[in-house]
Amino acid sequence: MQKTREFHRQSIDDRESFWRREAQRIHWETPFRQVLDYSNPPFARWFVGGRTNLCYNAVDRWLDTQGDQPALIWVSTEVDQEIVYTRADLAREVNAAAAILQELGVDQGDRVLIYLPMIPQAAFFMLACARIGAIHSVVFGGFASHNLAQRIDDAQPKVVVSTDAGSRGGRPIAYKPLLDQALDIAGHAPEHVVIIDRGLVPCAMREGRDLAYAPMRARHLDAHVPVVWLESNDPSYVLYTSGTTGNPKGVQRDTGGYAVALCASMEYIYGGKPGDVYFSSSDVGWVVGHSYVVYGPLLNGQATVMYEGTPVRPDAAVLWRIIEQYGVNALFSAPTAIRVLKKHDPGLLHRHDLSSLERIYLAGEPLDELTGQWLSEALDKPVIDNYWQTETGWPILSAQPGVEEAPTRFGSPSFPVYGYDVRVVDEATGKDAGPGQKGVVAIQPPLPPGAMSTIWRNDERFVHTYFESFPGRMLYSTSDWGLFDEDGYWYILGRTDDVINVAGHRLGTREIEESVNTHPAVAESAVVGVADSTKGQEAMAFAVLRNPDLLLEDGARDRLEAEIKTVIEQRNGAVARPARVRFVNTLPKTRSGKVLRRAIVALCEGRDPGDLTTIEDPGALDQIRSTL
Ligand code: ATP
Ligand code: MG
Repeated sequence: MQKTREFHRQSIDDRESFWRREAQRIHWETPFRQVLDYSNPPFARWFVGGRTNLCYNAVDRWLDTQGDQPALIWVSTEVDQEIVYTRADLAREVNAAAAILQELGVDQGDRVLIYLPMIPQAAFFMLACARIGAIHSVVFGGFASHNLAQRIDDAQPKVVVSTDAGSRGGRPIAYKPLLDQALDIAGHAPEHVVIIDRGLVPCAMREGRDLAYAPMRARHLDAHVPVVWLESNDPSYVLYTSGTTGNPKGVQRDTGGYAVALCASMEYIYGGKPGDVYFSSSDVGWVVGHSYVVYGPLLNGQATVMYEGTPVRPDAAVLWRIIEQYGVNALFSAPTAIRVLKKHDPGLLHRHDLSSLERIYLAGEPLDELTGQWLSEALDKPVIDNYWQTETGWPILSAQPGVEEAPTRFGSPSFPVYGYDVRVVDEATGKDAGPGQKGVVAIQPPLPPGAMSTIWRNDERFVHTYFESFPGRMLYSTSDWGLFDEDGYWYILGRTDDVINVAGHRLGTREIEESVNTHPAVAESAVVGVADSTKGQEAMAFAVLRNPDLLLEDGARDRLEAEIKTVIEQRNGAVARPARVRFVNTLPKTRSGKVLRRAIVALCEGRDPGDLTTIEDPGALDQIRSTL
């Protein structure tokens, strides 16, 4: 990993020349005067004075060389449709969408809220906003009216773009009634709502406010909307964090820094080059959807696959079918999707020709050793664990095969990525920890290009939330525990608020979960700390079995519980031994695959689990409840 280390060192020690060189990857209409302005810490301003445009760099710049090549490949197993848009088709659609927004009076700096499922129009309108300098705020389609209203009030959009319905598991899910409700609750009223009518469910339009997309698009299909050249630090979008730990934060992103960072990451981290095909199965409503469904691949001249559907319908080979059909080179998914596949026939992994596929990237939650290894061995492809956050916009820790093919280790997202001066810091003293010592993963500012510039309209909350966690030092706190070993491999040990305190011992729930998962009968697990009058807290484990029928055998439940407790005791010590191990068919998760520990704890402590609109399957909580 010598090369990776050297590359990283340059990016920190000689920050300016490093990023000056990387900035040449994109088109600057006006060159920047200064690589970095860090005169007002912790606010970093990258490529000051430079003028550029995300849409120009993602679409127009590639028209000459790749006009007739696929740019956006839309696959929907929900409505059984597939459309390949060439770069020229994409340009046409984006210009039409930009003309629609302009007709509705949207100007530079105005916000446009996009509440859409995984349909190509989501990308068209994001890029259209970028083209005219409007700020988009995409809200995940799984959110309901309360979440939506919160975000509408915070972002104050002039226009909302939405649809009649999404679809999940082949059944339509109405969007418009949720949007109408949200607009009734919200204090802020957008001037117009553009509705993309997919004809999935009847859709009531409100006179004067709601407008149909199709006729407007038809009118503007030959429009050419001039690009607005933004100063590098002008905001491109606001995206709310998933809210796993509470109130969502409106992450504000810049323009030039983001374009440069994404473009560089496509090569160094994802091993991509112009003409390659990239497939991220994330929803556009999450940061991965912004960075690696829409902007990253397109900025680097690659085609992107946008997928509306689940990994198991029509069967659990659908991801592999898409990869074969479109010659995908890199797949980006989440550990949760792979754990789902693990429960299906392993033969499905070999039904398709995957020779185009070079690597698989997984991110968003801990990738346990066994799942990573299982997939990698089954497909005989490298599986790369990426660690990052909505806030950073691109990976903080990852293998970087475009820099060097260094060996990876399952359970570790490898090394700090160039640009990030990552540390492990002792919470109490604020001092850097050494190899093997646990601490909070922190970043010495300035944050690199592409990372959040601030919290939307709340500089104070930005500083307070992220930069005031350590005594005597201004460091960005990720709020995750981690460590690095003697060889320089990093490990994420869970969230700082997922730590449990048993009789004075602080234990990361992630470490205990890893132990539970080593039991051969277990598919996945969640460990939480529950209030206990003597020990402060005690651990409770919930496990999903690979084969739930095991429990039908006499005495199996008790035997498995005892075995799992023993494994934990052996690996994590007696204090970590959970009070109880309970078996469920599914864990309560957010739709982005994160376990809702807050809700489990509340149930275990007999409290109300609170706002759960982001939950994937409400039945999962009933199961937890019934085991208690
Ligand atoms: P909120 O900040 O609103 O509570 P969130 O943190 O869940 O929401 P995201 O920004 O989507 O929202 O998630 C980032 C977090 O996900 C990281 O801080 C980390 O806890 C976890 N995470 C992401 N990737 C990995 C990974 N590869 N390994 C372990 N944990 C990961
Ligand atoms: Mg977070």
